[in-house]
Amino acid sequence: MATPSEPRPASGPEPTPPASGATATPPAPESATSTPGPATPPSTPTSPAPPAAATPIYPLSLRLEGRRVLVVGGGPVALRRVAGLREAGAEIVVVAPWLTPALADQADRGQITAHRRGYQPGDLDGAWLVLACTDQPEVNQAVAADAERQHLWCARADDATASAAWVPAVGRAGAVTVAVNAGRNPRRAAELRDHFVDAVGTVDRSALEGHEPAAPGQRAPGRVSIVGGGPGDPGLITVTGLLRLRQADVVVADRLAPLALLEQLAPGVQVVDAAKVPGGPAMRQDHINQALVEHARAGRAVVRLKGGDPFVFGRGREEVEACLTADVPVEVVPGVTSAISVPAAAGIPVTHRAVSQGFCVLAGHVRPGDSRSSVDWVALARSGITLVLLMSIDHLAEIADTLIAAGLGGGTPGAVVSDGWSRQQRVVTAPLRDLAGAVRAAGVTNPAVVVIGDVAELAATGLGIPSAPLPPEPPSPGGAPEPSFSTTAGADPGPEPSSYAAAASPAPEPSSYASASGRTGRRVLVLGGARSGKSATAEGMLTGDGPVDYVATGAPPGSGDAEWDARLAEHQRRRPPHWRTVETLALAEVLAAQGPAPMLVDCLTTWLARVMDDCGAWDDADGSAWVLADRIEQVLHAWRHTRRQVIAVSNEIGSGVVPDTASGRRFRDELGQLNARIAADSDEVWLCTAGIPRRLR
Ligand code: SAH
Repeated sequence: MATPSEPRPASGPEPTPPASGATATPPAPESATSTPGPATPPSTPTSPAPPAAATPIYPLSLRLEGRRVLVVGGGPVALRRVAGLREAGAEIVVVAPWLTPALADQADRGQITAHRRGYQPGDLDGAWLVLACTDQPEVNQAVAADAERQHLWCARADDATASAAWVPAVGRAGAVTVAVNAGRNPRRAAELRDHFVDAVGTVDRSALEGHEPAAPGQRAPGRVSIVGGGPGDPGLITVTGLLRLRQADVVVADRLAPLALLEQLAPGVQVVDAAKVPGGPAMRQDHINQALVEHARAGRAVVRLKGGDPFVFGRGREEVEACLTADVPVEVVPGVTSAISVPAAAGIPVTHRAVSQGFCVLAGHVRPGDSRSSVDWVALARSGITLVLLMSIDHLAEIADTLIAAGLGGGTPGAVVSDGWSRQQRVVTAPLRDLAGAVRAAGVTNPAVVVIGDVAELAATGLGIPSAPLPPEPPSPGGAPEPSFSTTAGADPGPEPSSYAAAASPAPEPSSYASASGRTGRRVLVLGGARSGKSATAEGMLTGDGPVDYVATGAPPGSGDAEWDARLAEHQRRRPPHWRTVETLALAEVLAAQGPAPMLVDCLTTWLARVMDDCGAWDDADGSAWVLADRIEQVLHAWRHTRRQVIAVSNEIGSGVVPDTASGRRFRDELGQLNARIAADSDEVWLCTAGIPRRLR
């Protein structure tokens, strides 16, 4: 062991701290057993005997601003300690031969002082407090012993019993600081800390507001918080936004705000519905401004709850100005904007390495050429960056035409995501030239975000996980852990009507399929001829209240074929309202996307036909065979590796009729082979004939 006069290494891997909340400092001592302390206590004559375990600690709150604190060690534990010390304004000196990159960065920027060497006894001089955070017990022990001699408090990270001071689990809620020691159980301390921090909001709202409670008979001064609520899912508001809601006396809410949060408001909180429904009822902006000011002047805590971010097409600044003019305290709590998060819910990143180096967010509520439009569409067409359009569905056709006329390729990928982050979310993808038509045909309406650019090709499904409480899942029959249809292997299960598909056609017994989220993938292929009841059979396998991603691969309605439209309408009517419909040909991507909901792909036949359209395979265009083979391989790969519960519907085509044309024969052969290969990698294969489903495997 090194003598106190020699430098001692002061870093290296350190005990792994327990996870803790973002606003809280983890407790110490920690991992006392993972890095054992020395076998014998320090032999320095000044070390007092360790206190008996039952002796209570004496809590104290230190005001460290401007006071030097020595941190010995430069690993992850030191990093966390330094974060807490910086928050308290301490003058921090770190001694360690090696620093984590984040600590090194703080040292480079002058936020802390770092000595990159081992610990030396003189390091304690001038310090008020010392934290020994190395992974080497003998170093921590030497630091503690030196501190003891100098009557300095030292907290050791490695050995609670040998430590003179303990760092509690710390959490803050406004002006309140919560510090918890739970014996020597840091995880329990952290849990209790979280619990108490949450409780502060309900017990003492004035503390959260950061000012003293009003004297009896007096009201605290009112104020306005302009809070961005995110794109609608209640889980996407910020922590501060949620705190402000809990403090509110009055909430003035927008249509696209996360309205589910209003349910959680305390009784007596006044809610003002300031929805501006396009073309419908609206609260005028000046009336909204006036309401904010008047409620605040009456001493109320006012939250203006908006969708997305208040400063992205949110008129947030106008509301701020109204408050400033009226001398009402006002703050802005930013939010997650739909411009970025709604494409993300469909798997589209607005930037992607080697695909797009930037993005531009613009409003499309004024059509190009309108005298009120100040957008340079020609520059945008040439920019090479992703275009994200809000409020643009009504003018999408003109916008696309304008961009194409200005030189942007008509084949540029486009995507429209409506009702992002909700169960009603829909995604329509099409090349720019067809995008407006596809959106119209699909009946997709506002609110929707349009993405134009190569990133739109990455559209997938199942990436957005709405945090709204899901309806209760049906219990799995007999508690069976594996999702499966209630059949005996090899036996014909016989048709049994399901509650949902009964009207359409007999279907297998409802399974626990929809409740099987989170399991590794289970793949089912349902084959059948035209009008055989195959789609209804597949739908019947997914009865239950849970969400389902319905992947439609056929041409959208409105393509000019009345019979096709009627069939789609029939399918649409049958689909339960909580299913999410995704219209896409990006099957491989959809299968690869993670997601909790089971997926129904309807169907492989239309997918193949449209992919053959896309690549010119019907006419045997140059390179089409290669492109087609590649896309089929991608789908097969994704099918094999999907981690979702998937049912795919396809046509059983080998009826012996030989099509007249070479392209028809080609299609028949491709589909037959695709079915066979999908079946080979499926857990179950079903065949529907005349409305009767039979299990083949
Ligand atoms: N301040 C908001 C935008 C307000 S403008 C924000 O930062 O997100 C309203 C437009 O936002 C809508 O017309 C639509 O284009 C988009 N939008 C908002 N929420 C949406 C959602 N959940 N899904 C799709 N689009 C949404």
